[in-house]
Amino acid sequence: CGIVGCVGRGEETLSTLVHGLSKLEYRGYDSAGVALADGDLDVVKRAGELDDLRAALDGDSLSGRVGIGHTRWSTHGPPTDANAHPHRDCTERVAVVHNGIIENYEDLKADLLEAGHEFRSDTDTEVVPHLVEDRLAAGDDPEAAVRAAVSRLEGSYAIAVVVAGDDRVFAAREDSPLVLGLGDDAYYLASDVPAFREFTDRVVYLEDGEFAVISADEWRVTDDEGRRIDRDVDTVEWSP
Ligand code: GLU
Repeated sequence: CGIVGCVGRGEETLSTLVHGLSKLEYRGYDSAGVALADGDLDVVKRAGELDDLRAALDGDSLSGRVGIGHTRWSTHGPPTDANAHPHRDCTERVAVVHNGIIENYEDLKADLLEAGHEFRSDTDTEVVPHLVEDRLAAGDDPEAAVRAAVSRLEGSYAIAVVVAGDDRVFAAREDSPLVLGLGDDAYYLASDVPAFREFTDRVVYLEDGEFAVISADEWRVTDDEGRRIDRDVDTVEWSP
């Protein structure tokens, strides 16, 4: 299982995401998917091999310039297309990929169902886009909405989020690996460096409890209240 994200590669965003997922194949998976945003939000996801996702993408003219991708190792719900990530909210404006387990998802899901949210998967993950949806509806900007949603979660997670019409990728981690890649004119995030090593050797490893935002011209690591955390940039020694 693994997650990837990228901003700044223009028309190559989709191929960059699929390349990244192929480099994370060693982590094992049973499903894969991608979401592209910045205008409309497009999601394509499939149970099975990465080639099944590639086949589904073939002929589909996905054109977003901001994206996230996922390979899933099922923990909650069988490996089906519906349970594959990314997961969306009811308005289909928010897409989320997640590695790990959200321990308190049953309580969160019960509250969300009570409030009228409709779920389309059996996963623990799907609570996250619905929590973000609620915060957006309450007037939060997307970055604050993601932080507020994540503050409700207990368990382990590496999470990446895109929001329709927004040109950033938001991320958070707790007990699951997540690393940023800093290219010359593109930024990446992934569970592990091989996903973007071909494009850059400059990396920033996130620590537990940290959040990150990448856009075409900025990367930022923050705490749970959005305060910037200064981080050293590491250089990876090995070649792709
Ligand atoms: N718990 C989530 C699921 O079952 C994420 C699994 C993973 O880490 O890939 O969908």
